[in-house]
Amino acid sequence: STSAAIDEPIINPSIQIDHTQLLINGQFVDAASGKTFPTLDPRTGDVIARVAEGDAEDINRAVAAARKAFDEGPWPKMTAYERSRIMLRFADLLEKHTEEVATLETWDNGKPFEQSAKIEIPMVVRMFRYYAGWADKIHGLTVPADGQHHVQTLHEPYGVAGLIIPWNFPLLLYSWKVAPALACGNTVVLKTAEQTPLSALYVSKLFHEAGLPPGVLNVVSGFGPTAGAALSSHMDVNKLSFTGSTATGKVVLGLAANSNLKPVTLELGGKSPFIVCKDADVDKAVDLAHSALFFNQGQCCCAGSRTLVHESLYDEFVEKAKVRALKRVVGDPFKTGIEQGPQIDKEQFQKILKYIRSGIESGATLESGGEQLGSKGYYIQPTVFSNVQDDMLIAKEEIFGPVQSISKFKDLNEAIQRANASSYGLAAGVFTQNLETANTLTRALRVGTVWINCYDIFDAAVPFGGFKTSGQGREKGIYGLSSYLQIKAVVTPLKNP
Ligand code: ADP
Repeated sequence: STSAAIDEPIINPSIQIDHTQLLINGQFVDAASGKTFPTLDPRTGDVIARVAEGDAEDINRAVAAARKAFDEGPWPKMTAYERSRIMLRFADLLEKHTEEVATLETWDNGKPFEQSAKIEIPMVVRMFRYYAGWADKIHGLTVPADGQHHVQTLHEPYGVAGLIIPWNFPLLLYSWKVAPALACGNTVVLKTAEQTPLSALYVSKLFHEAGLPPGVLNVVSGFGPTAGAALSSHMDVNKLSFTGSTATGKVVLGLAANSNLKPVTLELGGKSPFIVCKDADVDKAVDLAHSALFFNQGQCCCAGSRTLVHESLYDEFVEKAKVRALKRVVGDPFKTGIEQGPQIDKEQFQKILKYIRSGIESGATLESGGEQLGSKGYYIQPTVFSNVQDDMLIAKEEIFGPVQSISKFKDLNEAIQRANASSYGLAAGVFTQNLETANTLTRALRVGTVWINCYDIFDAAVPFGGFKTSGQGREKGIYGLSSYLQIKAVVTPLKNP
């Protein structure tokens, strides 16, 4: 990776930013306060656009619109088939506009355009089609209770769902929450991350073009402690779903508890082990461990951020991991063939460099990288540490950047014990050719996802979520529906007493 490419003049994408206001009740409107905030280009730190800054008063307006669309219709009163068809029409429109949407996503976030256009937007489209398929297949049970009663259950939407998403996968996480919430018949107030407000506004406009009635989906850009907190503690919001850091997840859960005790789904941080066993194919394991960590500039909650390698392969693995990191293509995310763009913003960039310094100071061996790349924007060299000990900060805390930490283990029991010795429990990678080893690890690891000889497989039907402080509840798949439905028992005497 060379810094020369990064210091070339920046080419701004030739697309106009049309939507920067709040989307409330089907209309783009200014914030009640009239305030705006800048959203920045991670390649340079320059302002892309100024966006309306939503606050408690705007959250009130958005919740009122969502409340009305739920209580008076049309949303939960439409047939599930009609709701499903609107979602499918939206998916078609989104697919048609992939190029523009991927451009906005890359501009605002810094992720490679090819990743946006070829991987993420298609996954978003898929997610809406997946949950559109569920909309008219949600139903309760008849229950054979004791006594002379007919018992049935109704699976009903909560009402107004408050959705709070982070900046690392702005549209993908939009789809993980908005699609199931709407399929189940809820109405939505979405609070996007302050770093990446643009793509959600654009696609939500498309959603209305696809026939979504006003008030069903409201989008409020703004900051966490103001707009996010107002949504979390709102008395008229019936369900909350949050993705972000564990620290903020605790705050949000507290706000929900102390207001109206709305149920909360949380998808939080991680420090996921990637375990390379003694019988692993080293070359494949190196490649997979590399992408498990470096994908999306290392800004993934499930990044394979603790690479544990069996001692018999360790030296070879470290050498090859270093070579692979040195080959990683870093540069302007709008260019073709780029594997890594800039980090999201200055704050994250500085935090990552601080972790790298801490790794060096605590005695880990710096194999590659370790510094800023180029002289503008927030690019960081793909960094590899070997000889990482479990008590080092870089082995314990979520770095959220392109920093791979490799350490050595002697036997499987040690690997299991160390893998589980974390307050997090989001995901794990297991690399082995031995079925028994795979089965042993699968059962022993206290995590929400185990990927065996693969990593980061995010099919719409596969549930995702955390054990321990990595979260509560599950998103995606059939399991994701239960986050947006409440159960009502209906009991009727079979004959009048
Ligand atoms: P990060 O540190 O990666 O930005 P956060 O968990 O702080 O992660 O942010 C994730 C989302 O949570 C963002 O939309 C952010 O605005 C929001 N947020 C931050 N603080 C709060 C808060 N106190 N209440 C509600 N939402 C918040």
